[in-house]
Amino acid sequence: MIKCIEESVKDKRESLSFEELIRWRRISEKEMENLNKQLSKLQKTLVIINKDIWNKCDHKWNKVEGATMGDLCSKCCENCNLYNVRSLYTN
Ligand SMILES: [Zn+2]
Repeated sequence: MIKCIEESVKDKRESLSFEELIRWRRISEKEMENLNKQLSKLQKTLVIINKDIWNKCDHKWNKVEGATMGDLCSKCCENCNLYNVRSLYTN
């Protein structure tokens, strides 16, 4: 899939003039900015969702594979996949 996108970009690049490249860059930058905004919004939404899940789940803790005594996230819930660190989800 990624290889396919790379191929089509390569074909496109070769046929574009300087002005078209500048325009394409502006469009790409704008799109990146929009996606970053969307990403940031989704990250905030996920924090809220996880907070609610933390409060509603009947947690069943399992030891995280490879975790040692000093690890903060040493246990994970098998129902909701959150770690047994309340402060990560309740602030
Ligand atoms: Zn849980």
